[in-house]
Amino acid sequence: MRVDAELIDKILSLKRERNAVILAHNYQLGEIQDIADFVGDSLELSQDAARTEAEVIVFCGVLFMAETASILCPNKVVLLPDINAGCDMADMITAEGLRERKRELPGAAVVCYVNSPAEVKAESDVCCTSANAVKVVESLDADEILFVPDQYLGHYVSTKTSKKINLWPGFCPSHARIKPQDITELRQEYPQAKVVVHPECRPEVIALADEVLSTGGMCRYARRDDVTQVIVGTEIGIIHRLRKENPGKKFIPVSEQAICPTMKLITLESVLRSLREMTPEVKVPEDIRLRAKASVDRMLEIV
Ligand code: SF4
Repeated sequence: MRVDAELIDKILSLKRERNAVILAHNYQLGEIQDIADFVGDSLELSQDAARTEAEVIVFCGVLFMAETASILCPNKVVLLPDINAGCDMADMITAEGLRERKRELPGAAVVCYVNSPAEVKAESDVCCTSANAVKVVESLDADEILFVPDQYLGHYVSTKTSKKINLWPGFCPSHARIKPQDITELRQEYPQAKVVVHPECRPEVIALADEVLSTGGMCRYARRDDVTQVIVGTEIGIIHRLRKENPGKKFIPVSEQAICPTMKLITLESVLRSLREMTPEVKVPEDIRLRAKASVDRMLEIV
């Protein structure tokens, strides 16, 4: 405990010295969320990154999020405290694979979930997050969409629009581990509780939910006066924030198996090391950055 307090003091003083800001995703370890300047979902954090006046962004999340910060803030140093913090879903698509699929679907607009490599964003017409995917798809002139890389988010969007949605076979292994049975069992145990799930869950899980929300949406939902007990269907890191912000309310994780191992690679020690050594830095090459930025900017104009 004492060691952590010393570690935290060192991080915070080095952060001031470097004129850095610490951004943490809702799935980060509790101790990382607690030292962050901003905690949020990928949309909120990309907006925070775009707004900040700090010279250094310490991104406590995974690689595609740090890349998005680099895309939006080319003149800042973007640090990802552990360079192995990738995203299994983002690794399920490549720019070359997407180019091939685009040739097969020449009339389709490409909507790219931000959980994707920068090169894939560069090949897309517009990005989206789980918070705005339906709105982004609806805003496009095209009637046919190629939605990449998350087939489950894409499927969820297809239930909310009349447009033809072509899916890419990617998914999030952490959310795919959530089973319908997990929800039905917890509903019996907590009959008063509301069930909220993330749209990265399988369709059969989504079908059992009261609300389908991004992690930012879950945090806002939990603050409502009429919500006192929530069964939470997403990565379990968010439980820390929900409990911290809503003392007295009950939050039950749908599955203890819903853990993203790469999100948990970021530790207080790696944040300190990163600030000390100013590595590992994430920088998207300029030609890719400019094309990827066009897709991200289009999204930010829509939300
Ligand atoms: S929770 Fe899933 S989608 Fe999110 S970073 Fe981890 S693997 Fe990627």
